Amino acid sequence: GEAKELVVDSERVRVAIRLRPKNADDVGYGTDFIDCIELQPELKRIKLRKNNWSSESYRFDEVLTENSSQKRVYEAVAKPVVESVLHGYNGTVMAYGQTGTGKTYTVGKLGKDDPSERGIMVRAVEDILIDTSPGVDTVAVSYMQLYLESIQDLLAPEKTNIPIVEDPKTGEVALPGCTTVGIRDLDQFLELLQIGEANRHAANTKLNTESSRSHAILMVHIQRSPEVKQENEVLLPGNDIRSDLSSRNLRVLLKSKLLIVDLAGSERIDKSGSEGRMLEEAKFINLSLTSLGKCINALAENSPHIPTRDSKLTRLLRDSFGGTARTSLIITVGPSARHYSETASTIMFGQRAM
Ligand code: ADP
Ligand code: MG
Repeated sequence: GEAKELVVDSERVRVAIRLRPKNADDVGYGTDFIDCIELQPELKRIKLRKNNWSSESYRFDEVLTENSSQKRVYEAVAKPVVESVLHGYNGTVMAYGQTGTGKTYTVGKLGKDDPSERGIMVRAVEDILIDTSPGVDTVAVSYMQLYLESIQDLLAPEKTNIPIVEDPKTGEVALPGCTTVGIRDLDQFLELLQIGEANRHAANTKLNTESSRSHAILMVHIQRSPEVKQENEVLLPGNDIRSDLSSRNLRVLLKSKLLIVDLAGSERIDKSGSEGRMLEEAKFINLSLTSLGKCINALAENSPHIPTRDSKLTRLLRDSFGGTARTSLIITVGPSARHYSETASTIMFGQRAM
């Protein structure tokens, strides 16, 4: 591909909301069942109903209904970030919401039997593979989970407690202990993602915990070296510029990174009733999501200081957040009034990011 000039708009964090279709669990909730969410997608607005007398309206950048396809969700939420990553900028796409509202479906669904069901991870890598040239560009992935403030390699699960290293000069974040696999085609990536999922399941069973208690993070590393005419002035975001003296053209090296994050369930865990590991889980999920919230607020407010030091999650996101990086957040909710207060708190998290 060719390096085109990219217009980075002033929108710091793009926030979309997605409603999960009703399931048996929602419907089975007594006869006085009401939906607590009403969507107005054309107005990019939702109504949250507390009871029959009071409701509040909220605006989002995108409102995705229970009928929105995976393709539509990808295009609305992730595609702009992927495009920017292909131009050499870092980017992050995250799913936030209560367990059972569709984060993994949205982000990590493999869609082995039905490609139309593929989630954001698969679609993003597919688009990246289409846009890059084998032999010239490289695409490589790492896949990890973050549990109790410890990073585990999901492509080599014996590797735990992987340290986060930050280059003091460039601010670049790296995980030198983590497996990185070069990707040739989509089938290879699908296989890898499936292995990662199986490893995640096995590791969590061994730890006697659920995957909803950890964050899953896919990192896609892209290196490309487009040829640009010397008379074109191209602004490159913090990348090396290597001059090829034998020609009038410049070979530049563009390095970028896309993070796709399936966050731990945002539901409040009752700390009073928990002890031991359950209490640790509750504390650490709370720490990382609270710290993520603070960073997103700072980004939304255009603050020069993003407080990324407080948790491993935000330290990992540090160079893919703010600056020239693009960030997209999708919050997922269920329709049932039974979960009103969790749904309300998810919506508030999304609102603070705008
Ligand atoms: P989470 O990761 O937030 O805990 P999941 O992605 O596992 O939630 O979704 C919970 C259940 O709902 C799964 O069985 C999933 O397949 C289903 N589901 C979620 N979102 C959708 C959707 N948009 N369309 C169809 N099924 C969905
Ligand atoms: Mg999940």
